[in-house]
Amino acid sequence: MQAKIVVLAGDGIGPEVTAEARKILDVIGEKFGHTFIYDEQLMGGCAIDATGSSLPDETLAACEQADAILLGAVGGPKWDNPSAADRPERGLLALRKALTLFANLRPVKLHPHLVGASTLKPEVLEGVDLLVIRELTGGLYFGPRQEAGEAGYEAYDTMLYTRPEIERVVRLAADAAMQRSKRLASVDKFNVLASGRLWRRTANDVLADYPELTVEHVLVDAMSMHLIRRPADFDVVVSGNMFGDILTDEASMLAGSMGMLPSASLGDIHNSYDLPLGLYEPIHGSAPDIAGQSMANPLATILSAAMLLRHSLGLETEAAAVEAAVDAVLNEGVRTRDIAHTGTEEVTTQVMGDLVADKLTAN
Ligand code: NAD
Repeated sequence: MQAKIVVLAGDGIGPEVTAEARKILDVIGEKFGHTFIYDEQLMGGCAIDATGSSLPDETLAACEQADAILLGAVGGPKWDNPSAADRPERGLLALRKALTLFANLRPVKLHPHLVGASTLKPEVLEGVDLLVIRELTGGLYFGPRQEAGEAGYEAYDTMLYTRPEIERVVRLAADAAMQRSKRLASVDKFNVLASGRLWRRTANDVLADYPELTVEHVLVDAMSMHLIRRPADFDVVVSGNMFGDILTDEASMLAGSMGMLPSASLGDIHNSYDLPLGLYEPIHGSAPDIAGQSMANPLATILSAAMLLRHSLGLETEAAAVEAAVDAVLNEGVRTRDIAHTGTEEVTTQVMGDLVADKLTAN
């Protein structure tokens, strides 16, 4: 296959971790006979510096033409002025909106050797294998809002959802659950919020098409508790934008380090292979505190590249090969600093990438 991948390295550690993911994609290309054509584009702080815009027109146009998009991270103290006309994160929000990337998928699977990196007890973490799906383009972050002026004391945001917005993300989650253990938890605030009642009604209507699924409706406050008390009891979890934002960060802590977790944002636009055009990125930010020091863990971005192979290019065998190579390297006790502990070998970002590449080549 030949696929066009837009690479948005971004800011901070973004260029370091995307370079390692490209290294792995190159090995996959060579090993399985695919050609990946990379198109490096600017987004975030680096784009503001170079063009004055966090999402230049050229970047958006390239993304619209791509088969998939790989992102590092955006942002950093240099662009932290809240009153600035443009901010790095605005580029990312605008890109998600422009491409209607309405579902954010975050798998949370704990590698057995990393149990010690989590703050939770090993017995709570045993068997954790979650896929948390967050609605990404509606709800509280996009509803009507008013910000009072400096003298004002009142402001509001609106949790506005429409049936189609809920239907499409619940259907995507139900399809994902059908491919996994056929268990789905839908999270809302049905008891208090009108939008929560619409969420539950709509979810039930969609899920009537999936009689094989075991469905559980869970209130968001209860879910935040269950996620750290009995996370292994859940498989696919779907929720609205703000609840999902909070729950996905909470779930990421089950895996110990931000440096381990990949994500995919998918929508309705299909690429030249009739698969969803997706944006693939690690869940962590640009980590300015360690940028340029070869200390960043590239595994979240490498695992994001595996999701890219799976969801946007339909290359399941290749995706599984990347995941197996990551597992093999971790099994040998090799670690970047964020997940290192006594008895493990600490390596740089680039060496970690090389070792995963070597495993892929060898197997
Ligand atoms: P962060 O995720 O960048 O860093 C939090 C902590 O985790 C830091 O101590 C960092 O060193 C560590 N860390 C993160 N990724 C790591 C990795 N791969 N390997 C090792 N350690 C890692 O979050 P933050 O400090 O709150 O934010 C920094 C900047 O990133 C801010 O400007 C924020 O707006 C931006 N941000 C961007 C995104 C994105 O691009 N999607 C997401 C979150 C934050």
